[in-house]
Amino acid sequence: MRQEKYSLSADGWLEEAKHHKSGHFNQRPKDTMIDLLVLHNIHLPKGDLSSIDPVLDLMLGQLDSGTHPDFKALSKLRVSAHFLIARDGALYQFVSTEDRAWHAGISSFLGKDNCNDYAVGIELHGSDDCPFTKAQYQSLVHLTAAILSRYPAITTERIVGHSTIAPGRKTDPGPHFDWPYFFSSLQCEQGALL
Ligand SMILES: [Zn+2]
Repeated sequence: MRQEKYSLSADGWLEEAKHHKSGHFNQRPKDTMIDLLVLHNIHLPKGDLSSIDPVLDLMLGQLDSGTHPDFKALSKLRVSAHFLIARDGALYQFVSTEDRAWHAGISSFLGKDNCNDYAVGIELHGSDDCPFTKAQYQSLVHLTAAILSRYPAITTERIVGHSTIAPGRKTDPGPHFDWPYFFSSLQCEQGALL
């Protein structure tokens, strides 16, 4: 894995990401300790990984309800994540990590509800049915290292899937997400950067 240090600015934006600022955010509760990282997968429409554009549109509240039958209901949703990683590894950021993005929904981690309050959310363009790409893992590891260095309360035990904080309701990032590979790559990246 290439040794390359990404970093978050003081106001919570990653220089290496393409910034597509979304209006789908609000402030975290006062004095919130940011101490959870949540990984997701997303694609639109169902079963179609050919284009990331509908996902970008959804995050920005610009999904055109007329372009696909699935989009009619989705176009009214107000959702966001802090980051999205494309199949080619390209990184997009919609919301500052200092602000609250709307990715977790009804959720709880170790007895603490409303994970959006205290979590950073990363979406991977993908599905529960397909492996993620090497480029996605590479970007995810660079990005995660930057997030952990900025928010040290996010220990590796506090990096979880959406399925962990919303069991029975959510299944992402799904069975193809390779947690051992991700964690060992992250450990190497952090070791290389010490
Ligand atoms: Zn999710």
